[in-house]
Amino acid sequence: MRVALIAHNGRKDAMVRLAGEFSAFLSTCTLMATGTTGGRLIAEVGLAVECLLSGPLGGDLQIGARLAEGEVDLVIFLRDPMTPQPHEPDINALVRACDVHDVPCATNLASARLLLHTLAEAAAV
Ligand code: PGA
Repeated sequence: MRVALIAHNGRKDAMVRLAGEFSAFLSTCTLMATGTTGGRLIAEVGLAVECLLSGPLGGDLQIGARLAEGEVDLVIFLRDPMTPQPHEPDINALVRACDVHDVPCATNLASARLLLHTLAEAAAV
């Protein structure tokens, strides 16, 4: 399973906790992330993550392009709903690409936990 992980600054601590909670499953996946998110997951959770550009520099678009080519199976995108982002068009493009290509995209913790729990259980069967 190829999983893309993105967290806005206000949600990065939550992403690190989430990834720690599901590290056993995530370590079986091919992981990619926007730059700063990926760096934290490597340093603080010990996961192997391909770090793309930082989100505001085009990382969301890189993930969207891979997704459009069938190279991403799941997106965990912890958006900060309380803070305006300079790259809002890129964020919308990525979420739209998920809808166009019918790729699961969790934009909050509850959805992310539900997806990861279900996938982890299925993988253990
Ligand atoms: P970052 O990008 O992981 O490089 O911070 C995420 C974002 O802010 O879109």
